[in-house]
Amino acid sequence: MPAWQSDPSGRLLQRQAQGLTFAIKMPLPIDSRKKPASVKVHVTSGAGVDIAWSDGHASHYDFAYLREECPCATCNDERIRKSAFAGAGPASAAALPMFKPKTRAQAATTVGNYAIQITFTDGHATGIFSYDHLRSICPCADCAKTFRAAAT
Ligand SMILES: [Zn+2]
Ligand SMILES: [Zn+2]
Repeated sequence: MPAWQSDPSGRLLQRQAQGLTFAIKMPLPIDSRKKPASVKVHVTSGAGVDIAWSDGHASHYDFAYLREECPCATCNDERIRKSAFAGAGPASAAALPMFKPKTRAQAATTVGNYAIQITFTDGHATGIFSYDHLRSICPCADCAKTFRAAAT
C-alpha cells in the first residue's frame, strides 16, 4: 500500500493535489530573452521596429526585413517555393531583378501581450509577429548564433 494512502490525516494526498493545481495555474517559465521590456514601432518615420528585451538586448528591424520574414502561412509557402527555386538552377531566381520599392509599414497594432501585427505598404496584413519569433529573427550576429545556429 503506498505511503500516502496510509497517512491517517490525508495531508500528503492533499498536498499532492495542491501541487498539481499550482502547476496548472503557473504560466510556463518565461524566457527573458524573448520578453520585451519596450517595443517601438516607427510607422510614420518608416524607421522600423525597435525592441528592448528583458535580458538587456536591443533589436532593430527594418520593415522590409520583417516583410521578408513574415511568419504567415502564405509567406511561409512562398519562402519554401523560392528556396526550392534557388536550388533548381541558374535560369530561375537569379534572373529576376528586384526593383520593388522598399516595403514599409502602414499601420501596426499589438496583439494581446505576445505579438505585434503589421500592415505593410504592399497591402499585406496577415503577419502576426510574436515576440518569441521576433527575438529569434533578430538580425544581429549574436542572435543568429544563439537562435538560428541549428539552421546552418
Ligand atoms: Zn505574410
Ligand atoms: Zn540580437
